[in-house]
Amino acid sequence: MSDLFVDIVTPNGHKYQQPTGLFINNEFVKGSKGKPSHHWTQQKEIASVHAASAEDVDRAVRAARAAFKAPTWKKLSATDRGRLLVRLSELIEERKELFASIDAWDNGKTYELAMEDDLPDSIGTFRYFGGWADKSFGQTIETSPEKFAYTLRQPYGVIGQIIPWNFPLAMAAWKLGPALACGNTVVIKAAEQTPLSILVLATLIKEAGFPPGVVNIINGYGQEAGTALTQHPLVDKLAFTGSTTTGAQIMKAAAPALKEVLLETGGKSPLIVFDDADLDQAVKWSHIGIMANQGQICTATSRIFVQRTIYDKFLALFKERVRTASVVGSQWEPTTFQGPQVTRAQYDQVLHYIGLGKSEGATIETGGEAYPTPDGKGFFVQPTTFSNVKPSMKIYRDEIFGPVGCLLPFDTEEDAIEYANDTLYGLGAAVFTQNLRRGHRVAAEIEAGTVWLNSSQDSDHRVPFGGYKSSGVGRELGPAGLEAYTQIKAVHVNMGNDL
Ligand code: ADP
Repeated sequence: MSDLFVDIVTPNGHKYQQPTGLFINNEFVKGSKGKPSHHWTQQKEIASVHAASAEDVDRAVRAARAAFKAPTWKKLSATDRGRLLVRLSELIEERKELFASIDAWDNGKTYELAMEDDLPDSIGTFRYFGGWADKSFGQTIETSPEKFAYTLRQPYGVIGQIIPWNFPLAMAAWKLGPALACGNTVVIKAAEQTPLSILVLATLIKEAGFPPGVVNIINGYGQEAGTALTQHPLVDKLAFTGSTTTGAQIMKAAAPALKEVLLETGGKSPLIVFDDADLDQAVKWSHIGIMANQGQICTATSRIFVQRTIYDKFLALFKERVRTASVVGSQWEPTTFQGPQVTRAQYDQVLHYIGLGKSEGATIETGGEAYPTPDGKGFFVQPTTFSNVKPSMKIYRDEIFGPVGCLLPFDTEEDAIEYANDTLYGLGAAVFTQNLRRGHRVAAEIEAGTVWLNSSQDSDHRVPFGGYKSSGVGRELGPAGLEAYTQIKAVHVNMGNDL
């Protein structure tokens, strides 16, 4: 047993038992390799978790398959399914400080952000989809006097879900909530960088009363566990959030059996500031839009376009905002805005891009280096802003996934729209103007799944979310989230004997 649970005290004093196994059939089990893989968090090892092999993934998928057919789930009324989800949301709420602590520790995000953002999002998502469970139904369609048809909205079966590390618990909620509300069963793989909160969630799934096998949670690496899940013949649909490159590999894995995919991938989102905007608001949101969560948000508004008439003024205010608001430091300090990047690999990648920006000739307006700490430890990066950026530069084209923004001037509305859309991605976009007509006109022209007018990064479980272009396939959340996890069956009925 000692291998499957570790006693932990978080830096802010929460004592708890961290599960470290794979969660299959409502039990924690060892991986077939028998040894926990190393899992390090920031500068300190918290726990080693068992990484799933292909054999373990097969066990989990078979458990999900059996659970899908078992009467305990199949015959459970939609109302009772919804109650389980609501109960789960309540159990998370009772332990919200613990979950926020685990994600702050494991990911490096600030405890404040986890409490104010990740936890309400996770709790709200489970509750919201719990409410939807018994409110999703088909239609009756009259076809002729003697005949009609009706439709059933049915679950797919086993959903294979793969999530990233930037919002560990919330990404699990986005995936599990709608899939379970619709009656599917799930095998979900946590990101190898941040498995801890999802394993604690597993204990609550059991406590809430979900039958064994309905939710199976595996840790493990993308190449091994991830690939085994996407290629498994008994998985009926795949749902993924992560990089565009991996999303394309998942689509490929799904192709031979024509499996459906739900993909939420990368972004290089624009933010446009017109000269009639409320400048203080524009500066505030532009800063949050790229620097929040250490810049590790797929919708981060990383290309900031400012109308030339106010460009110099905006730049000065933006620099001042970064200087005063982007407090870098320990994720546990309430005054900290920016904690460490999640891993050394990400830290190295962000610094690599900053180096590229310099060598390509862009001008550093803020930051531009690693952030020095007294003991020289931790993956901290200075909040960095580039000007004199050319569209050919890598810092303008690629998703950096760090606190690195580019500022560019534009002249006309047409130019702003053209620049905003000059990207392979289409996840989010922000527009700042006090002219209502212009705001809605530009929102309609931008190629992105989400547009914020006079804001950035708002996300809500009631509102559909997803990408245009290479930023994804399908929509999560809101009523669209239910559509993603049900398939429609048409039943034709003949009531007469005329034909
Ligand atoms: P990031 O670059 O943000 O880490 P990835 O797309 O590599 O994004 O990872 C997101 C999730 O996808 C993680 O859970 C990771 O383990 C998983 N993953 C990575 N590669 C693959 C793959 N080839 N097949 C399936 N899952 C993968």
